[in-house]
Amino acid sequence: MSASGNVSGVAAAGGILTIGVETVVANWKSLAARVAPARSAAVVKADAYGLGAVPLVRPLYDAGCRDFFVIALSEAEAFRPLLPSDAAIYVLNGLLPGTAAAYGDGILPVLNSLAQCRAWAEARRGSRPSVIQVDTGMSRLGLDVAEQQALASDPGLLSATGARLIMSHLACADEPDKPASGEQLAAFGAARERLPGLPGSLAASSGIFLGADYHFDLCRPGASLYGIETSPLATGIKSVVDLRVRVAQLREIEAGTSVGYGYTFRASRTTRLATLATGYADGWWRRFSNGAGAAYFGDTRLPSIGRVSMDSFSVDVSALPAGTLAEGDLLELIGPHQSVDDVARAVGTIGYEVLTALGHRYHRIYR
Ligand SMILES: *Cc1c(COP(=O)(O)O)cnc(C)c1O
Repeated sequence: MSASGNVSGVAAAGGILTIGVETVVANWKSLAARVAPARSAAVVKADAYGLGAVPLVRPLYDAGCRDFFVIALSEAEAFRPLLPSDAAIYVLNGLLPGTAAAYGDGILPVLNSLAQCRAWAEARRGSRPSVIQVDTGMSRLGLDVAEQQALASDPGLLSATGARLIMSHLACADEPDKPASGEQLAAFGAARERLPGLPGSLAASSGIFLGADYHFDLCRPGASLYGIETSPLATGIKSVVDLRVRVAQLREIEAGTSVGYGYTFRASRTTRLATLATGYADGWWRRFSNGAGAAYFGDTRLPSIGRVSMDSFSVDVSALPAGTLAEGDLLELIGPHQSVDDVARAVGTIGYEVLTALGHRYHRIYR
């Protein structure tokens, strides 16, 4: 399956982004096996971290996934029709004011405050389920301890929310040496004692690798499905993304000639360079300028020179014999020589940000 299917679409694209659907499914299966007998959800927010939720949710369902997490109601609505009725989609950002009536069947709000619990209890027309999120230290979303106590002291309200899961989120699970995760685990246990009888969910990708104490009834991996190594403890995650970009132009410049905006690179010798058809508008970071980033031709690293522009950047191809490259050739930006995590390290960010930044001008192929 490809985004536009026609050969001219491929030929005209400045880059080709290949997404391994089977690898996403394999990563999900390996995590599901690791956390069993707990269940594993799939977090497909932000359009499956930029890779495209629509092509991924049905293969994940067919592999056994029944629980899908997004941030916004609109994201849930985009793929709800693709899933059978026994799948549930959870909206993490909570019940925004005035939206209760808009929740269709099989879409559950995550209730993040007492006010949201009340609003849902009033609007849910009897039987619609929900999830309760408690804050265990991150101070982002969820009921604080006082609100948990208030909810616990109002059994009528609790039952009227239709809560079928209690969840929280770990702030430091990717740093196993910090005491924070243990403290959050204890706080989650206390919240579950206050609001007993509900299945629990605490771990995202990194939390899964902290061990079975963190798995409860449902785990919520996102990044690890998409090939990001989120934690030093992570194992068995296969990379999913391959990005090739085209050589838009080849040229040779003399010593003393400058390259790119701001003339931040000046050649000290005769240099052959390739201008590549991708830039920061495509998620290829401006911080990749001047040697911070590279493309690969086979095993040969081709360092960036000059600044990354919005739509292009240049690499030094002097290491390749003259005539090796032609305009229209594809060079590797993400693939066997340079993972998403390598790219992230090179620009001082995390793989999550690299993936979600990848732009929409690439021709996408789902395999
Ligand atoms: C994004 C998110 C996840 C998934 O996190 P990963 O680190 O990508 O696995 C799980 N739970 C919540 C509440 C999230 O916001």
